[in-house]
Amino acid sequence: MANEDLDEYDQYNVRSITSESQLWLIDQHLEEGSIIANTYKIIKKVDITIVRDSTIITNSLFIKEILYKNNGHWKLRDATLDYMHPCEYSALSSPPSSYNNFRILKIFIDIYYDDFGTYRNTYHSLGGVYIQLGNMPFEMRKHLRNHFVLGFIPFGGCFKDFIHPFIKDMKQLEKGILMNIQGRDCWIIAGLECITADLPQGNDLTGVKRHNAIRGCRTCLAKENATDITLDIASISHYHHITNIQFKNIFTALTLEERNNIAKEYGLQTSLPIFDQLQWERHLQSPQDIYHIIAGKTLKLLKLMITMLSPEGERNFIREWKSFEYPKQWSKLPNPISHLESFMMSDRIRLGMVMPFILNRSLTINCLKQQEMDKLQRRIKLNRNQVINAIIKCWAIVAKCSQLTFKISLTIDDRIELERYLKKEREALVELFDDFVGLPNLHASYHLSRHVRTFGTLVNTAVGTKEMVHRIFKNKVPHTNCKNIEFDLLKYYTTLQAIRHLSDGGIDPRNLQHSVEFMNLFQDFSHLFKDWFIMESSETDNKEFKVCSPSSYFRNIMLRKPVSVRNTNIGIDTVSFRTDLALAYESFGYNSSLINKTCNFYEYASYIQDVHNAEVQCHLSIDDVVTIQVADYGESYAVIKGIFKHKSNDGYLYPFIYVDWFEDICKNHNRLECPIFVLRHDDTYCKIFPLTVIEKVQKVHFVHDCNSRCKDNHNLENKHYLRNDFFFKVI
Ligand SMILES: [Zn+2]
Ligand SMILES: [Zn+2]
Repeated sequence: MANEDLDEYDQYNVRSITSESQLWLIDQHLEEGSIIANTYKIIKKVDITIVRDSTIITNSLFIKEILYKNNGHWKLRDATLDYMHPCEYSALSSPPSSYNNFRILKIFIDIYYDDFGTYRNTYHSLGGVYIQLGNMPFEMRKHLRNHFVLGFIPFGGCFKDFIHPFIKDMKQLEKGILMNIQGRDCWIIAGLECITADLPQGNDLTGVKRHNAIRGCRTCLAKENATDITLDIASISHYHHITNIQFKNIFTALTLEERNNIAKEYGLQTSLPIFDQLQWERHLQSPQDIYHIIAGKTLKLLKLMITMLSPEGERNFIREWKSFEYPKQWSKLPNPISHLESFMMSDRIRLGMVMPFILNRSLTINCLKQQEMDKLQRRIKLNRNQVINAIIKCWAIVAKCSQLTFKISLTIDDRIELERYLKKEREALVELFDDFVGLPNLHASYHLSRHVRTFGTLVNTAVGTKEMVHRIFKNKVPHTNCKNIEFDLLKYYTTLQAIRHLSDGGIDPRNLQHSVEFMNLFQDFSHLFKDWFIMESSETDNKEFKVCSPSSYFRNIMLRKPVSVRNTNIGIDTVSFRTDLALAYESFGYNSSLINKTCNFYEYASYIQDVHNAEVQCHLSIDDVVTIQVADYGESYAVIKGIFKHKSNDGYLYPFIYVDWFEDICKNHNRLECPIFVLRHDDTYCKIFPLTVIEKVQKVHFVHDCNSRCKDNHNLENKHYLRNDFFFKVI
């Protein structure tokens, strides 16, 4: 039955025709699967055993097989081929009875390991190990001050020796320890949540062979077939309880040769990974990192793309690349044709978000070298125009996939869409380019759905910020003599210290002393933080004006750099302006007719906005695209055309914005599948609002939907714009 397609079977029927006491586990999201039963309907408790060996427990319900979907078909697999429930490998010990009344705090520890050596041709390689507290809210986790440096492993140093104190701390924390937190005794239990490392080290840490000899994946047994569309991941995955047995077989081998042979057969190393001393599922808690995967995949695709371009193609590409309307908050990207090698990971990911648009504007059939075009035509059996379309669509799929991968929260629909796009991406890349066949980076995307299920989102385990922290040290290393690297500036932490430090600060670890130390160290590298969340861009203009806030969620509203009304092209003496301003006042409960006619315009505004209990410093300037929640309509987009203050009848100064709206015309671009919007300059909709209606600044990115009249400049009579659905914040 296992090989049969079970599509037509109702799961309950399967049960009734086989055995009374056998049940099946369903490893698939089913609409009808989520049944919430009322407690009064519960008759009794039943024990169900998942049978992982040949002994069947009689007189009780048992599960021997799992029903799952692979490549659109229902299949059955042995219940052994699944991850264990955490309670099967990780036992929580309760505090000693005398501590029973204490508050219990449970903490996840994430560990990140990266090697410096692979970065430059430095003969002195150095590894950095960092830890983070996994249950900290995402907003806080991305701050530098919440990353703790466990230490650096010098060249030739042994990871096992280095990590030993950490393991010792963790063993103690797994059992639980007493800590005084803000004057209150608490029982602290901590466990390992996940380990992230790039490919070779990641395999080392999980006891799986590195991927040179046979392309070993740390999560499954895929080899040359790593990117096959029909790959049945669940049935070939590594499972902790199975590799345990395999390790046992390796260790009981009589000769060294036999031992190596068995290890090779299983694709495992000949010793247990060091983290096995802790409670964990080595294959489930070592997720592939999306930051590395996506940056790697995008670089590969960029390289392939650039080598395919003819001289004309290169010229066209560079022309569009130069004039492209990038999101304002990005720093300038290096030239992708001449400087691709120096692209940082975040640059590659960013370029990936705009490549579909740049290619859509620049790529024509003459842009590819003849032999490359012939090769593609033979490979995908399409005409030349269709080849160009396929390339642009492929970039759009890759970009959409990255955007979904980096979503900071995922609904069930998002997960389904993510899974669908990951599949589409594998198909598109493998179909077009031989270089993607069997590529470990592309294969890793097979495991992302599982990581979503385990960790909630993929950004939860992503190393974006960790990579930033690491890069800072990386940049420091080449300038120092390896033998006496001056890391005395740095404060190292043990796991226990890190927890203590954070908990001493209560829920707001921002007041911690070490954050100051960190910032001092990072001052030298402030150029790295330009355009990064941790630095606030400061306008040097002294003329700033504080105004009142009509909302308690907005504080410290400052207006900067005055501009004359004439330069704004806004008619303030019109009826519609007066009406809209009165309506804006009405929106915060101010109903009298306005006496004062003067409006003072500015180029910039800054303010502090409270978002989910976190303070966010915001900057607003003319031409920014903002998101506004509109009643009965939801998220809407507008371009800031004016920022001004106006004095109310009782003498208070209030800040307002004057906007042009993007109108959704419910149509998608045929190649890029991004929605088309029309920018409305007319007075159809109200244009003036209190500044405090703004939900977010630059959360979305709009790109001109160019026509043939866009030559050196965009033809602005064409008011069609595309919402860049590939746009997201890398960290
Ligand atoms: Zn795999
Ligand atoms: Zn245009």
